[in-house]
Amino acid sequence: IGRHPTPQTGPEPVPGVGRILVVGSGKGGVGKSTLTANLAVALARQGRRVGLLDADIYGPSQPRMMGVSGRPEAPDGKTMQPLVGHGVKVMSLGLLVPDGQAIVWRGPMLMGAMQQMLGQVAWAPLDVLLIDLPPGTGDVQLTLCQKTRLDGAIIVSTPQDVALIDARRAVDMFRRLGTPILGLVENMASYCCPNCNHVTHPFGHGGVRDEAARMGSPFLGEIPLDLDVRMSGDRGVPVAAGEGPIADAYAHLARGLIT
Ligand code: ADP
Repeated sequence: IGRHPTPQTGPEPVPGVGRILVVGSGKGGVGKSTLTANLAVALARQGRRVGLLDADIYGPSQPRMMGVSGRPEAPDGKTMQPLVGHGVKVMSLGLLVPDGQAIVWRGPMLMGAMQQMLGQVAWAPLDVLLIDLPPGTGDVQLTLCQKTRLDGAIIVSTPQDVALIDARRAVDMFRRLGTPILGLVENMASYCCPNCNHVTHPFGHGGVRDEAARMGSPFLGEIPLDLDVRMSGDRGVPVAAGEGPIADAYAHLARGLIT
């Protein structure tokens, strides 16, 4: 009986990709995909070579948010070419399954898909690959953390308690799996009335900063609730691609991620 090589099971880097950052949240709908798209665009504007992998199996919204469509091609029959939007290489499960079709896969299927999206996509050369995770603490997160060398996790939350409780679970999961927590971002805390400039806090304010302090994690900053953020996402041109205070806020967050 011949000797078999020891299987390599530890986390592996993706060849030609400088660093891999995941963006997660406890709850859905707190703005994780919007943050990921805007950070990707902001980093690209800062001269980084950026990729965005949409791994949100429940709501793969990056093709819409990044303004890309069509089926990625694999000229050699093996390696898929990512689509490019706003200077960012984009790959999404949403590009691989027909529109509106649910992704109803068990763990092993998901693991295969994740490995394919990392290993069989022409990402290189990249300075940074951002991964838009599904919300919560499920199979995709587990697979990625165990199989791929992740350089850090960013957790986004609104400041209300129901979101914060789940954000805490997400942080706990990454800690257990050994992925460094880069920090927390507070989304949709402040709303400035466009008519009278009065600022209100529909979901509260400061909760994410407080939670970060309690957990001993960095607080990375906040993005206000703003109609432009929603509308630009819907039309495939993230706010960070333009000018203004919110684009500046995303640029500031992006600069903090890579020093
Ligand atoms: P998640 O990825 O956490 O499910 P999304 O990024 O899809 O959340 O955001 C949910 C909805 O909220 C989308 O319609 C998006 O356009 C909107 N949204 C996200 N962040 C903001 C914000 N800062 N201001 C206004 N709307 C936002």
